[in-house]
Amino acid sequence: MHPEPERTVPSAHTPAGRDAEVDAVLVHAVLDALPSPTVLLDPDGVIVLTNDEWTRAGEQHGNHIPPGADYYAAATAVHGDAEGRALVRSLRALARGECTSVTVDRQVPSPRDSRPRWYHVQASRVGGRGHVVVTHTDVTARVLAERTSAWRARHDHLTDLPNRAYLHELIDAELQRPDGTPVSVLFLDVDGFKDVNDSLGHDVGDDLLRELATRLSACTRTGDTVGRLGGDEFVVIGRDCDAEGAQALAQRFRDTFDKPFELAGGTARLTASIGVATTAGPDPHVRSTDLVRDADLAMYAAKEAGRNRIEVFTSELRDAAEQRATLAAEFVRALEQDELVLHYQPVMSLPSRRCTGVEALVRWQHPQRGLLYPGDFLPTARQHDLMTPLAHWVLGAAARQTAAWRDAGLVLVTGVNINATHFSTGTLVDDVMGALADAGLDPAQLVVELTETSVADDPERAAAQFAELRARGVEVSIDDFGSGYSSIGQLVNIPAGILKIDRSLVAFADGRREQTAAAIAAVVALGQACGIRSLAEGVETAEQLELAISLGCSFAQGYHIARPMPAGDVQPWMTAQRSAAAAPA
Ligand code: C2E
Ligand code: MG
Ligand code: MG
Repeated sequence: MHPEPERTVPSAHTPAGRDAEVDAVLVHAVLDALPSPTVLLDPDGVIVLTNDEWTRAGEQHGNHIPPGADYYAAATAVHGDAEGRALVRSLRALARGECTSVTVDRQVPSPRDSRPRWYHVQASRVGGRGHVVVTHTDVTARVLAERTSAWRARHDHLTDLPNRAYLHELIDAELQRPDGTPVSVLFLDVDGFKDVNDSLGHDVGDDLLRELATRLSACTRTGDTVGRLGGDEFVVIGRDCDAEGAQALAQRFRDTFDKPFELAGGTARLTASIGVATTAGPDPHVRSTDLVRDADLAMYAAKEAGRNRIEVFTSELRDAAEQRATLAAEFVRALEQDELVLHYQPVMSLPSRRCTGVEALVRWQHPQRGLLYPGDFLPTARQHDLMTPLAHWVLGAAARQTAAWRDAGLVLVTGVNINATHFSTGTLVDDVMGALADAGLDPAQLVVELTETSVADDPERAAAQFAELRARGVEVSIDDFGSGYSSIGQLVNIPAGILKIDRSLVAFADGRREQTAAAIAAVVALGQACGIRSLAEGVETAEQLELAISLGCSFAQGYHIARPMPAGDVQPWMTAQRSAAAAPA
């Protein structure tokens, strides 16, 4: 090492002949002019001089070290053994001329306000005898700002819980532990959170999420971490937590929902669906994304099974998810390649018992799996946002078929099922009118069916679009009425023309004819009061048909009248039915 030429006190710029007293005054003045706390050390680390800033900062923070004290001893005491010794080693080397400067960042406890402070420490050798000047620039504000922004980047702004990115970091760190202790991930989604947000507003929704964050955190052990992925989705990491422990934790989460939530001056009872995934054993290939995805799949299964429950991930769930993904891809192809077909189920007008309409019901002629029914593929289509493309296809095909029957002398009114998501696209009215125009069909020959639950999801939007469709001559019906929970108030405000009474109401159990009759009579009467006609769905027996007629239903549909049939069978069936009705008894 080649030590640099020594600077001296007094310096080369000091005129020769100046006495030592003047130099000492000058050095003092120079030190005092420095804005940072500064000390001058002798070659053994004893403080020779300090500036005003050093005294002021020391007094402010309660750790003043006066001239004459041993800086090296103080540094070791303040920074702890290893850090302090490293600093002292560097300063000694500097005093010996083995390096030119020392620069380090130091954290120093502040006895006065219990929070540490950060200093940028810079030391240089001065004079020829191994003196060292050390400046301590306070960088606490900068460090805190950096730390705050780093913290913000990893935490959710609403709940202050770890966010998605940080949760994945934490899970990955846990998975990489060499001891291979089990790790569990719980995926929790609040059931019906959207309703709270929509009906009570986003501020109330935010309050609910904060309250939930507090409750969930209170249920966990100190080693566990509760985080928020976004929306109403929370993820909890159970450290050293096997499948059994994870289910116990999930149960505690469910229990915490027993207590109602205080919202907007009232109380609300809520539930959650929880999915649990646990590592199967040490496996270097498992990543946090795998574990969170598995817990998410289990949560999805909990939703599917009716919400408010806990499901544990199994490999069958993953297989089912893969099959759904394959099915979704195949469904896109089916839409493009005309693998879908419509079957039509006759609708009987009461009490004349003449079939005047049909309902179009979609089927999928799958090249490998044969004819698939809506229950086999609509859930997947819904999950992959394919309901609106499906509706385009159905509207077009049903309108063209109805026009073809009309041209062949058979005038029918065709019902088409539309999904709730179509409301939110805002294109429903245009799509319906477009299909009618393309097929050259009279709007009076089309009925748009929307389920009670999809109407209840967004009654205002439903009301607006229903009104517009009806103004343009297209009838609208509420499907599966009685299967959901819409209030009578909602029903009165929805401008629908037909109420389709759900099969579950019509198919009365043995010995419950009276109760069923009373329920149907109430719905029919309510409909009549609002100018809405009723249709009994799922009529499977002659007795049910008689009941529908006697209670004043306008229409009936069901296996007792006819099953859904391919388009080509409709005209012969209608002809046969009409000639049978016309034949003398
Ligand atoms: P939905 O609109 O209520 O249609 C009536 C369903 O009940 C049909 O089932 C029909 O085959 C069945 N059904 C009719 N009469 C009887 C009966 O007497 N007894 C019994 N047990 N069932 C009867 P499908 O075709 O399986 O359709 C099921 C649901 O799928 C439909 O219920 C509808 O919500 C939906 N869907 C069908 N086609 C479409 C479509 O093109 N688009 C949309 N978005 N949904 C559709
Ligand atoms: Mg329907
Ligand atoms: Mg129905």
